Amino acid sequence: MSTALAGIGVSPGTVAGPVARMAPPPQLPTDLPPVSDVMAEIAAAEAALHEVGSALEARASAAAGTAGKEVADVLNAQAMMARDPGLAHKVTDRIKLGQPAPQALDASFGEFRQMLAAAGPYLAERVADLDDIRNRAIASVLGVPMPGIPTPGHPFVLVAPDLAPADTATLDPAVVLGIVTEGGGPTSHTAILAKSLGLPAVVACPDAAALTDERMVLLDGTTGDVVADPSADLVTNAETRQQARRRALASSTGPGHTADGHAVKLLVNLGAARDLPSASAADSEGVGLFRTEFLFLDRPDAPTLAEQAANYEKVFAAFSGRMVVVRTLDAGADKPLRFATVPDEPNPALGVRGLRVARRLPELLTTQLTAIAKAAAITGADVRVMAPMVTTPAEAADFAGRAHAAGLPVAGVMVEVPAAALRASTVLAGCDFLSLGTNDLAQYTLAADRMNGDLADLLDPWQPALLDLVALSADAGQQLGKPCGVCGEAASDPLLALVLVGLGVTSLSMAPVSLPEVRAALAAHTLDECRQLAVAARAAADPAGARAAVSALLAP
Ligand code: PEP
Ligand code: MG
Repeated sequence: MSTALAGIGVSPGTVAGPVARMAPPPQLPTDLPPVSDVMAEIAAAEAALHEVGSALEARASAAAGTAGKEVADVLNAQAMMARDPGLAHKVTDRIKLGQPAPQALDASFGEFRQMLAAAGPYLAERVADLDDIRNRAIASVLGVPMPGIPTPGHPFVLVAPDLAPADTATLDPAVVLGIVTEGGGPTSHTAILAKSLGLPAVVACPDAAALTDERMVLLDGTTGDVVADPSADLVTNAETRQQARRRALASSTGPGHTADGHAVKLLVNLGAARDLPSASAADSEGVGLFRTEFLFLDRPDAPTLAEQAANYEKVFAAFSGRMVVVRTLDAGADKPLRFATVPDEPNPALGVRGLRVARRLPELLTTQLTAIAKAAAITGADVRVMAPMVTTPAEAADFAGRAHAAGLPVAGVMVEVPAAALRASTVLAGCDFLSLGTNDLAQYTLAADRMNGDLADLLDPWQPALLDLVALSADAGQQLGKPCGVCGEAASDPLLALVLVGLGVTSLSMAPVSLPEVRAALAAHTLDECRQLAVAARAAADPAGARAAVSALLAP
């Protein structure tokens, strides 16, 4: 008997495979007998630390080939922590005093943890890495499943309560068939990374908690449907539908346009360097959002002008002849950068993030703009820049002024804060284009943390209040004859893309995997039809009503 579970589809594609669960951190037993053989206990603790070190080194060399050097460096640094002789001494001393190995490991890691936490912001951020090693060492000594990404030895559907961006970034698409998480929201960075890896993914599926290792599941990353123990017929039908869909989508190519020829630029979002080959190979007119902070997530200090220019040059060269919109560093909140983020802000999402970092560190922005201009000058790409988290017209004009002075003629701003949307005309008067970051715009408009899966209904990009702010921004673009695009996840929903175009947006930027479906949807409807869909969606009371109104108008 198959069982249907419901979640939110965040990355398209259908896939079937056996479950492998991400194990939770081990519980420290409280009822262990006193240590009878001290030497054996010390040997067990040492073996556990050794096993953790070796496993991390193995992951580092695998990551060097897939996820890139930065991820490999982080894993190697973690392996060194596990092999630290000072840590091993502390564990041995505690066991000699009678503590069982799990308790000795826990207490010794605890001492290191306190030292790190007190040693300044850079080292304090390594606490999470240390906790991860502690959990692995204790799991090893107790003989319980390792926490973290499982390695069952065959391709699997990864099921987890939630995934940290760092976990998702190291996933190998050759063995991970798809992702189902119990929590998480549609605009969390995990969802964004899954999409950039082209992995079908479903989030906010609480019933996935009941899925055990090796159980077969069928998941649909478009509808959010997950079926446990699907029948062979169901799997075959899904596979046939998936192949038919791929064939239909492959027949839609070229620049985006509506059925009556109204042009809508279709662009890709680019984050990690490893996505560059697939992003540049995709059938797009360029990059609508190059998330530069993902290049620097694991760095302790700011990259130099030359390092940045070298990174940007690779991207611009891959998109020679096409446009590339570079977003300046969006440090802070969900994307902390050690060298830019203010530590211990009580409410980082409302703190010094995005363009606001330039208030404290103006030279960081100047160096980045200079590096972008330098790289642009030596490649043939049409490079434009935009700033994240712009709030006021003065900020927009100031950013555009700095970019122009750095030799970058086209400078725009992201609309992610309701204030910027409400004053879109004045904001746009001082710069060259707008790009709607609907992920953050939803977060700030609905006052709902984008990382919080429990609030996924509020973060739904079909929220009519969000559509009203999109409309205000797009209207400003039309009045001033300047572009207004969407680069948040809203752009990748084929139905919502029609609504956005009807509201007046001029480009849609998304993960490459979403392009064919959006292109095909646009090509099937006229601009006038899109406008009618937009009116119907905005007239609805809630996201479900907006979807229903649009679907009803599209029904044959
Ligand atoms: C957004 O907020 O919609 C956006 C595109 O930026 P990010 O998801 O990187 O915050
Ligand atoms: Mg954003």
